[in-house]
Amino acid sequence: MTPLIRGRHGTATDLVAFRARYSSPRPTGRHQPEPRSAGSLFAGFPALLIVVALLIGSALLSHPEPAATTPYVAAGGAAPVADRPIQPSAAPTPTPEQEPQQSVFSPIARPAHPWLDEEPGGEPVAWACAPIGYRVVLEGAPAGVEQLLAEATARISAVSGHQFRADRPLHWLEERSTPYVGITVAWVARAEHPEASQDAIAIARTTTTPTPSGGSLYSAGKVHIFSDWPGAHRMNFTANGVGPVMLHELGHALGLGHSDDRDAMMHPTNLGVTTWSEPERAALRYLRQSCR
Ligand SMILES: [Zn+2]
Repeated sequence: MTPLIRGRHGTATDLVAFRARYSSPRPTGRHQPEPRSAGSLFAGFPALLIVVALLIGSALLSHPEPAATTPYVAAGGAAPVADRPIQPSAAPTPTPEQEPQQSVFSPIARPAHPWLDEEPGGEPVAWACAPIGYRVVLEGAPAGVEQLLAEATARISAVSGHQFRADRPLHWLEERSTPYVGITVAWVARAEHPEASQDAIAIARTTTTPTPSGGSLYSAGKVHIFSDWPGAHRMNFTANGVGPVMLHELGHALGLGHSDDRDAMMHPTNLGVTTWSEPERAALRYLRQSCR
C-alpha cells in the first residue's frame, strides 16, 4: 500500500521527529510527519494535512510511520516491520585478495527495512554517488558540534560506504535559507516546530529532485536537534548523549524510515540504542548502493 510519501519531483517528502524517553518514565514517542514545500526548507501547512491524511489512510504497516496522533505502543503493540537478517551477498565468491563477504561494498539484495521515500517500484530514494555534503549551524549549537558530526558521519561510512564532505559551517541560523545541496544540521528550539510533540527531541526532513530517467534523488536534508532537550548538549555517543540521536536523524536524511525493532537505532522512540542493528546496516549499505 501507499508508503508514507512518494518523494518524487520535489513535491513531497518526510519529516520525522525522534522523541525522548528521558522526558518521562515511560516512552511515549511517535513519529511526527511533516510536509515540505518546494522552494522552502520549511513546511507548508496544507501539505502537512495531506501527509497526515496519507498516514491515516495507509491500511498497511508497510511503513512504520504512525499518524501524528497515534500514541506510542509499548511491547506487544503494533506488529514489527519485517526486519530480516542480512541477505547473503549476491557478489561472486570472494577470492582471498578480495574484500570480505560482508564488506560494505558487497552488493546485497534489497532489505526489508522501511525507507523514508520510495520510488514506485519500491526502491529507496537515495543520494547521488558523490560525497554528501553537510554543514552545521554554529549559532545555538554546543561546542564540539563539528567533531560530533565528523564522528557520526564516520560511523555511518564505516557500515555503509557512504562518503561525506564537511562544508563550511554557517554562523547564523538565517543562513539556513541559502541554497545548498547536502544536509544542514542545527540546534533549534522546539517551538520552531509547532507540529512536533512536546516530547520530541529532534526532527529530520529530506528534499528530493527528479532525475532525467524519471526517478528521484535526494538533494537536501535537514536535521534539527531540539535544544530544549537536556541531552541535546551531551556531545557523546552514549545512550543518553546526542550522538545516537544524530545518527538516527542522519539515518532519515539518508533515506531510512522508522523501525519497530526496539533494538534498532531507527526506532521512533529513543530507547538508548547506540549502534546500528544488522538490518539497519544492510539497509544503509543498500541505500549507498542505490546511489546514482
Ligand atoms: Zn525518527
